Amino acid sequence: MIQYAVAPQVAPTVPVLDSEAVFPVRRILCVGRNYDAHRREMGGDDRDPPFFFSKPADALVSHGADVPYPPATENLHYEMELVIAIGAEGFQVSPDQALDLVFGYAAGVDLTRRDLQNAAKSKGHPWEAGKAFDHSAPISAIRRADGPPPTGRIHLSVNGDLKQDAVVSDMIWNVAEVIAEASKLWRLAPGDLIFTGTPENVGPVRKGDRIEGAVDGVGSVAFQLV
Ligand code: MN
Repeated sequence: MIQYAVAPQVAPTVPVLDSEAVFPVRRILCVGRNYDAHRREMGGDDRDPPFFFSKPADALVSHGADVPYPPATENLHYEMELVIAIGAEGFQVSPDQALDLVFGYAAGVDLTRRDLQNAAKSKGHPWEAGKAFDHSAPISAIRRADGPPPTGRIHLSVNGDLKQDAVVSDMIWNVAEVIAEASKLWRLAPGDLIFTGTPENVGPVRKGDRIEGAVDGVGSVAFQLV
């Protein structure tokens, strides 16, 4: 029997809709700038290929739990995103094969310490402090895939005011292409989540704000910043 020197971490889980089962999370990949209008608002070049960053699995916040306002930032931003849950292993898959890897979909928020991210960008430093912090990935339950990937409305409100309102079909790289691109870089495995990027009109939130977001037909996520 293995003797652990410290208590081993149990895999974080996300509920699965209409199921007793929970989805154990291995890692979280995130796509940067996958909607044209958001890419422009962040100063990106339209010819940029997709790029990825990651968050630790234990950054997830599920079951509608409160989110503590994170330390070391004065500019916390929301980014509403469609999330792909991977249910099968795949490496260097084509877009035609990519959807075979999908377990389901969820709605997630890529919380971002924008001031730290911008400082990292300007210095050529990695993005971890801006993106991969504790409680930075609130997420809905996962809906099992039962047909083509979602294409519908994606939206987020703060204290009832609509802030982001777009359609998933405006993604520059669609679900199959995102999976194919990620699989060029990593062997994808069951338990991986991929945040697929946010549409335009990201913005700041403060302690006490209530954030509610959804991808229609997929799920909704809501939390309070405390
Ligand atoms: Mn994002």
